[in-house]
Amino acid sequence: MTSAPTEQSVLTAVPKQLLIGGQWRDATGGATLPVEDPATGLTLCEVADATPADALAALDAAVAAQAGWAATPPNERSEILHRAFLALGERSEELALLMTLEMGKSIAESKGELAYAAEFFRWFSGEALRLDGYYKTTGNGASRVLVMRQPVGPCYFITPWNFPNAMGTRKIGPAIAAGCTMVVKPAQQTPLSMLALAEVLEECGLPPGVLNVITATASGAVSEPIIGDPRLRKLSFTGSTGVGKKLIAQAADQVLRVSMELGGNAPFLVFADADLDAAVDGAMLAKMRNMGEACTSANRFHVHESVAQEFGEKLAARMGAMTLGRGTEAEVEVGPIIDATQRDKVAALVEDAVAKGAKCLTGGKQGDGAGYFYEPTVLVEVPEDARLLGEEIFGPVAPIATFTTDAEAIAAANKTEYGLVAYVFTKDLSRAFRICEALETGMIGLNQGIVSNAGAPFGGVKQSGTGREGGNEGIAEYLDTKYVAINV
Ligand code: NAP
Repeated sequence: MTSAPTEQSVLTAVPKQLLIGGQWRDATGGATLPVEDPATGLTLCEVADATPADALAALDAAVAAQAGWAATPPNERSEILHRAFLALGERSEELALLMTLEMGKSIAESKGELAYAAEFFRWFSGEALRLDGYYKTTGNGASRVLVMRQPVGPCYFITPWNFPNAMGTRKIGPAIAAGCTMVVKPAQQTPLSMLALAEVLEECGLPPGVLNVITATASGAVSEPIIGDPRLRKLSFTGSTGVGKKLIAQAADQVLRVSMELGGNAPFLVFADADLDAAVDGAMLAKMRNMGEACTSANRFHVHESVAQEFGEKLAARMGAMTLGRGTEAEVEVGPIIDATQRDKVAALVEDAVAKGAKCLTGGKQGDGAGYFYEPTVLVEVPEDARLLGEEIFGPVAPIATFTTDAEAIAAANKTEYGLVAYVFTKDLSRAFRICEALETGMIGLNQGIVSNAGAPFGGVKQSGTGREGGNEGIAEYLDTKYVAINV
C-alpha cells in the first residue's frame, strides 16, 4: 500500500477467508461472521465462519507440514521471523488502523501493540539460532548422556481480542523458531489483525501449512476436534481463567503440553515513602493501557493511608482529563470497551462499589450515543466487600483502598485466586525486596507500571496460568527434551 491507508482500503485489503495449507478458502458451506466496530456498533466486514470439518482440515495441513518444517535450517526460520519483524514495522500504519477498527483502542495504542508484537519476532529470530543440547559423561564414567531438543510438533493456539496481534506473535514466534507448525484461532471480535498477520508471514516466506488460521463463531465446536486429535501435541491459550480450565480438562485426554495465559487481578501497592508522581505515572500506564482491558491491568490500588488522598486526587485529575472517543480520531486517548456485555459488566461493578460506600472522584458513567464507551473512573474509600476488588474489571476503573502496615498490604495483595502481576511503588530498597518476595505473582513492576517485554518471561502463578511467553523461557514451551544413553 503506497498512499496513506484509509478505513476502506484496509478493510478491502485484509484477507477474510480461512488460511489452510497455504490456500485462502471459504468456510465449508460458505458461512461468514460479522466483525463489529465497537465505537459505532456497526459491522465492518464479514469473515469466514469455520466448521469443525474446516478445523480438522487446518490440523491436517499443520500435521502434513510438520516434518518438513522441523527439518528446515534454523537460519531460514530465523530469517523469516526477522523479515516479519521488519514488515510489521513497515506496515504499522495500515495494521494499526485495522486493529483500531475492530478492537477500539487508539491508533497510538495499536501502533504500540504492533511494536510490542514485532519484538517477539525479533527475539525469537535470535532464539531459533540458539536451540541447543549437551553431551556429558555419566558419574560412573561408564556411558555418555546426549541431550537434544526437538520441536514439540503441531500446536493449537487460541487468542483473545484485547491484544489481537501481540497475543498471537508471543506464540507464533517461538513455534516458528522451534520448528513447530500450528493452527491459530483468534477471538471472533478481532479476527482481522490475525488474518493480516498471517498474510505478512506468508509474504515473508513462511511455507504453506506451517501457520493455518481459522476464524469461527462456534469456538468450542471447532476447538474440540483439534484438541481431541492424537496428532496435536500442544495447546497454548490466552484468555479467561474460566475457559482455560475447560481447555485444560479437554487437553488431559491426549496429555497435551499446555501453556495457559489466563486472567489477572493485579494489585498496585503505593507505600508512604513512594515518589507519588512516579506512582501516578505508573498507575496511568498500568490502569489505562488498552482502556484497562489487559490481563496486566492494575485492577485495584492499595495505597498507604497517609498518601491515599493525594494519590487519588492526582490520579483522578489525570484520568478525568483523558479524551474519550473513536480510536481513529487523532486526539482520542480512550476508545470504547470491546462490546456491550463487557461495558455493562464494568458499569455493574462500579454501581456495586458505590452502593457499598465507595466515592467516585471522576467518571462513573457510560458514554453517550452509539458505541460501548465508559468514562475513566476513580473510586476512593472502596470497602473490602466491593466486588471489583475480587473480580477482573477489564475496564478504565481504578478503585482505591487503603492499608496501614506492610503486612496488611501484602495480605490484601495476595487475597485473590489470581497471580499474574503486581505493581509496587516504594523508595525503600529493603522494603521493595521484602514485598517482592512475599507477593504471590509471576511478575512484578517495581516502581514501573509496565512489565511486558519480549525478552522477559511473561506468565502467572495460581489461577493466572502456567507456562511463560518470551524471555529465555519462552522457547522451552515449544521444545521436547530427548536423552540418548550411549554405551561407549
Ligand atoms: P475468553 O472469553 O476466554 O476468550 C479467549 C479465546 O478463547 C477466544 O478466542 C474465544 O473465542 C476462545 N474461546 C471461548 N470459549 C472457548 C471454548 N469453549 N473452547 C475454545 N475456545 C474458546 O477471553 P476474552 O474475553 O477474549 O479475553 C479476556 C481474558 O483474557 C481476560 O480474562 C484476560 O485477563 C485474559 N488475558 C490473559 C492474558 C495473559 O497473558 N495472561 C493476556 C490477555 C488476556 P470466541 O471469541 O469465539 O469466544
